[in-house]
Amino acid sequence: TNFAELGLSKPLLDALSAKDYGQPTPIQAKAIPTVLSGRDLLGIAQTGTGKTAAFMLPSLDRLVAASQDRPAHGRPTHGRPQGRARMLVLAPTRELAAQIAESARTYAKGQHISVGVIFGGVPVPRSIREVSRGLDVLVATPGRLLDLVDQRVLDLSALEILVLDEADQMLDLGFIHALKRIVRLIPAKRQTLFFSATMPKSIRQLAESYLTNPAEVSV
Ligand code: AMP
Repeated sequence: TNFAELGLSKPLLDALSAKDYGQPTPIQAKAIPTVLSGRDLLGIAQTGTGKTAAFMLPSLDRLVAASQDRPAHGRPTHGRPQGRARMLVLAPTRELAAQIAESARTYAKGQHISVGVIFGGVPVPRSIREVSRGLDVLVATPGRLLDLVDQRVLDLSALEILVLDEADQMLDLGFIHALKRIVRLIPAKRQTLFFSATMPKSIRQLAESYLTNPAEVSV
């Protein structure tokens, strides 16, 4: 299999050819057609397997396909702009969040897709600037995301795609309550992609509560 056979668009294939990837990795081969079809996904995969591209590439195509009806834009709320996000990727650490955002920017090159990243440890006003005009793709750590929601600068009510990356790590780092609060802010009618390196019972139960009829991919 090559990336073209998986059903990705020409602009993405062009961005990929610059990356010099050869074949899709196993998780990419399995996940990309599933995500393109709009189905939810439960992925059991470690870092290094190519899972970032497995969720990001088909999600970008879905955002582009839907963007005629649902452009990302700020919505004025009490005179202050509230940024909307169309796709949210939650990651446990700032390092991972930064890496995912960098990948998204590379893959989205040449397309009208905005990508932003927010995480703790940087001044909050910088995060506010990042989100306030609205974004197609927002990558975030849970704590900083909730800060911005609480400050009413970020609106998740129009979210189309939710990705939880390294869910087991997020739970280990104590983000379970933050995670639950965040998911409650997101429309139930969405596509959800849930990734974890391990799948103990607690994580599987959490996954099942967030996913609808998911395809399961394990690599
Ligand atoms: P990840 O598992 O998402 O952290 O990706 C691990 C690394 O593999 C990243 O540096 C990617 O750029 C790279 N990568 C992803 N997909 C492929 C592929 N199909 N062929 C070669 N390298 C890849």
